Amino acid sequence: MTKYEKEIYHIITASMEHLTAEQIYTALKRKYPKVVIATVYNNLNKLWKAGMVHKVTVENMPDRYDRTVKHDHLVCSKCGKLADISFEDLTASLRRQMGGDFLYYDLKVFYLCPECRHQERSQEDISKQQ
Ligand SMILES: [Zn+2]
Ligand SMILES: [Zn+2]
Repeated sequence: MTKYEKEIYHIITASMEHLTAEQIYTALKRKYPKVVIATVYNNLNKLWKAGMVHKVTVENMPDRYDRTVKHDHLVCSKCGKLADISFEDLTASLRRQMGGDFLYYDLKVFYLCPECRHQERSQEDISKQQ
């Protein structure tokens, strides 16, 4: 691993957040002020291809990078925030239904996160008062 690969890998695995390339770039810049964002993208791609990091793709949102420990995600359909969640391992059940093996599965559950729910509720209150 190159110096930057190591640093980026560390930033992702040490974080409980789901960081975008931009956020990783900001974190990396604190230590290496001269780093450019293309370096971050290149190294993220390398780490992802090597299976070292997990990429979470949600429509209309920037990709986010995550630890590879098996877990699933709750996605806020309003602000796009991710939260970790663990389902029962579906591997055996899926294999049985497919009658064979598969590469991986990636589950996302869409909801409104507590903040967005709160916001919607207060907007409702305002409209009731009008
Ligand atoms: Zn939200
Ligand atoms: Zn996660």
